[in-house]
Amino acid sequence: MGKKTNKKTDRETNVSTKISAEKTRTKVNGGVFIYTGAISTGELAKALNVSVGEIIKFLFLQGKMITINTVLDDELIGLICLEFGYDFQKKNIVAAENFEEVEINDDPSKLKPRPPVVTIMGHVDHGKTTLIDAIRNSNLVAGEVGGISQEIGAYQKEINGHKITFIDTPGHEAFTQMRSRGASVTDIVVLVVAADDGVMPQTVEAIDHAKSANVPIIVAINKMDKPGADPDRVKNELMQHDIIAEDFGGDVICVEISAKKKTNIDGLLETIILVSEMKELKANPDRYALGTVLEAKLDRNEGPKATLLIQNGTLKEGDFLVVGTSYGKARRMTNEFKKVLNVATPSTPVSIIGLAEVPEAGDRFMAFAEESEARSIALKRKQLKEAKEKSKTSAASLEDLFAMANAGDVQTINVIVKADSTGSAEAVKNSLEKLNNDHVKINVIRATSGAITESDVLLASASHAIIYGFNVRPDAKTRSKAAEEKVEIRLHNIIYALIEEIEAAMKGMLKKELVESVTGQAEIRKLFKVSKLGTIAGCMVTFGFIKGTNPVRVLRDGIVIFTGELAGLQREKDQVKEVREGFECGMLVKGFNDIKEGDIIEGYEMVESE
Ligand code: GDP
Repeated sequence: MGKKTNKKTDRETNVSTKISAEKTRTKVNGGVFIYTGAISTGELAKALNVSVGEIIKFLFLQGKMITINTVLDDELIGLICLEFGYDFQKKNIVAAENFEEVEINDDPSKLKPRPPVVTIMGHVDHGKTTLIDAIRNSNLVAGEVGGISQEIGAYQKEINGHKITFIDTPGHEAFTQMRSRGASVTDIVVLVVAADDGVMPQTVEAIDHAKSANVPIIVAINKMDKPGADPDRVKNELMQHDIIAEDFGGDVICVEISAKKKTNIDGLLETIILVSEMKELKANPDRYALGTVLEAKLDRNEGPKATLLIQNGTLKEGDFLVVGTSYGKARRMTNEFKKVLNVATPSTPVSIIGLAEVPEAGDRFMAFAEESEARSIALKRKQLKEAKEKSKTSAASLEDLFAMANAGDVQTINVIVKADSTGSAEAVKNSLEKLNNDHVKINVIRATSGAITESDVLLASASHAIIYGFNVRPDAKTRSKAAEEKVEIRLHNIIYALIEEIEAAMKGMLKKELVESVTGQAEIRKLFKVSKLGTIAGCMVTFGFIKGTNPVRVLRDGIVIFTGELAGLQREKDQVKEVREGFECGMLVKGFNDIKEGDIIEGYEMVESE
């Protein structure tokens, strides 16, 4: 990088570092007054080259009293500009280091069609890996023989002259991880469902993910070669999740395939092209590249090595890049066949070397014309990230979400509902959806029965959702995952209390109140029947502590089966006040004898909310 490079002007730049460096925020430009935010009467007068008195007089005659120091709002600025013969325009200037927030507005005439980016999802063993292999090895042309290098994490396939980009990691972990980092790379989800097995839990999870990301689904009904294959059953089951096949009157295309026998793989590829053409996916190849890191690692010989998905613009060898918080130069770019590329256009995955550090999957990158620009932006991003980490707060607390919604930052609040039965999940969902008002829409992205699991937390994290548990609890592992992902879980056992809480939050009135705080859990390991007393639960406290005077609840498979209090808490025959994590104890639940080995006794107390 030693040699000084001249500013390249072959492509449009993505952000201008110059704007933020400019001291003056306003300029009268051929009769157009461009401003970026609040401005005082005095400043506006100067910018428009009129006297302050004239402006004050003009507004006075309109019945508005202002002074030289009044900070003018957009409406007044507009009024004054028009009066004095200027057109006006407000520019939102985003600091260059926040490049994820930069809105790229491409001149429509420069937009060219780009290949769709596809992720394959579905239940375990339904054939995702087999399908990926079948696609990878289909229609290989001379030169590609030897196959696609596995290490790139994505590859392109061509069918009838159209390219498709496949993300190579099947399943929703990769998809979720990207989304939770704010990156959306997938244009189309191919949902693999085995024709002999039908819709299974991870099928539903994949549907939830695709829906909440607003990504269209193509269903690949796989294993059609098997004797038990029943595509109609699959379509019927999908219908229960609002995925309605075309021949059932809906708009979801289902393609019947056999990944193993490589039957109708071309049909699936053609469908992907069809759907992508309907979506009119376009990008501007004539700008500096921007996109997302699909994966990265440290190569012993070559240093940091990353697979980038170009989402807009063109990356050329030698371009300067900011990736995450570090920068570098695209020293060598290779495609999935390890072939060296000089340029990479939109939707192309490329492996590059030349970065100073190993980025993380999901990091966004942007290419810059000048090294100095890339270097200073990377530095600022690093500082910003460190500052943010220091002040990390919950990403989706109920209060924050509603505050943001009311400030116009979010219009939709995503909610996941888990309940003790399908009926109550539906009831909670319906009640929540009735609360929608002009500012806030409650969008229930999942409402099912069963315990709150890590998969709920991942979906919540990816969609910035809150999880509501109705008569169900998360286990300790899920709880810690939620804490790690900063996902808020709110638990209730009365529907109207849940609804009231959300209503209060919608009105911005979430006050301090008594909320439950779980002190600990104990697992029932053995039962002792004592004729006069009932059944004593021989327990091990698995986390926290259990206090004899606190309320408890009994959980079976994550579902609350009883709420009450303890009639006795003892250690080695002695009654004790409290038992801590790692100790065995005996518990007698007042008025409830129907306990079983494996049940969980959870202790909680009521504390004031923060
Ligand atoms: P994944 O867990 O979704 O990635 O599923 P795999 O691709 O590993 O496939 C699971 C099993 O199903 C393997 O034994 C495959 O050989 C088998 N399989 C996948 N596709 C087909 C198919 O089209 N027909 C039949 N008969 N078996 C298949």
